[in-house]
Amino acid sequence: MVRRVTIFGSTGSIGCNTVDLIARDRAAFKVVALTGARNIETLARQARDLEAEIAVTAHTECYGDLKAALSGTGIEVAAGPEAILEAAERPADWVMSAIVGAAGLPPGMKALEQGRTLALANKESLVTAGPLLMETARRHGATILPVDSEHSAVFQALIGEDMEAVERVIITASGGAFRDWPDAKLATATLAQASAHPNWAMGQRITIDSATLFNKAMELIETREYFGVDPQMIEAIVHPESLIHALVGFRDGALMAHIGPPDMRHAIGFALNWPDRKTLPVARLDLAAVAQLTFRAPDETRHPALRLAREVMAARGLAGAIFNGAKERALDGFIAEQIGFLDMARVVERVLAKMDAGRHMGPEITLAAVMAADSEARRLAGEEIETLQG
Ligand code: NDP
Ligand code: MG
Repeated sequence: MVRRVTIFGSTGSIGCNTVDLIARDRAAFKVVALTGARNIETLARQARDLEAEIAVTAHTECYGDLKAALSGTGIEVAAGPEAILEAAERPADWVMSAIVGAAGLPPGMKALEQGRTLALANKESLVTAGPLLMETARRHGATILPVDSEHSAVFQALIGEDMEAVERVIITASGGAFRDWPDAKLATATLAQASAHPNWAMGQRITIDSATLFNKAMELIETREYFGVDPQMIEAIVHPESLIHALVGFRDGALMAHIGPPDMRHAIGFALNWPDRKTLPVARLDLAAVAQLTFRAPDETRHPALRLAREVMAARGLAGAIFNGAKERALDGFIAEQIGFLDMARVVERVLAKMDAGRHMGPEITLAAVMAADSEARRLAGEEIETLQG
């Protein structure tokens, strides 16, 4: 049966990999909507190549360019965040959530409300609104499939298993761009240096988050929210080769590891074809050539992000939304070269402390409350950035 698919964030790193897999298996898919932001040329090309029904840009000022690029094709064109939400209402069997940042939450929620199968790359959705997302999926009979490589790995290791028998979940971390740098040098890390990942080709934001370990911090929270396991059962371990993506430990002592090359097309393809496993264009590992796999414990003093994630998991409520909003704003500040590499964690820690004293740490999680906490956290992070620059 032909699967009707929509891709939010089709022009990004995850989006382009998803498009690549669909383009290789055209007969199996009908593309409904593709969405992007500023990269109009890529969006128009994808829409033409995959004969999408509609192409949507998040920016109304880009409407004219997109319209011109698709003139004569019969492909519908729309612009703005509302248009992305409308695209989420179009009938589809499978929806990829690959917008970067908290902006990915509302369209993903909308897709779940339609009962869709949501392939979730947008980790911010689970970090900011995990309980809301899971509850919305349950209420509308929707399915969420993890696309983050670690969570896809855990999901696969759990197939046929009883959650009762799970004792621990271990997600691996490459250690990011600065894993071999001495502590004293970290403060000098530049934007260009932080934007180069040793193992994975990804968008710039997640690449920098890998260097600070904020990416792993978010993934700890993601693991808790998606699989419903206790924070004490979740561990992160540095594994520089990035070949084992995660391990699940059972009460009989067995550890089930998921091993594969660092290529997101595995996790994306697994979700795209689920519950089937189809042939995927990823390299096959030659273990003799790999020869050895190494591990080391992460250093939480060096990487405050991991400690902050533990605090967020303990606090719950809107702590995840605050954590993420502050982190996104701090990341903007680093990308704009307003603050240094180590300042990002400082900003997040201060915003969490400030908002903890206020009413924002309440237990109620609604989409409106999450978005409000997100914007307040960004505002406060902006103030912290000014103080640091001051
Ligand atoms: P990219 O930055 O490469 O792509 C982001 C996508 O979102 C692009 O399509 C971009 O459009 C679009 N976009 C940006 N801002 C907005 C906005 N305000 N509203 C709507 N759309 C917007 O990111 P990645 O592909 O690297 O990551 C996407 C998500 O997947 C993130 O949440 C990331 O954490 C997660 N993820 C990514 C992995 C990876 O390997 N890259 C691995 C695991 C998770 P445009 O390009 O037109 O500007
Ligand atoms: Mg990951």
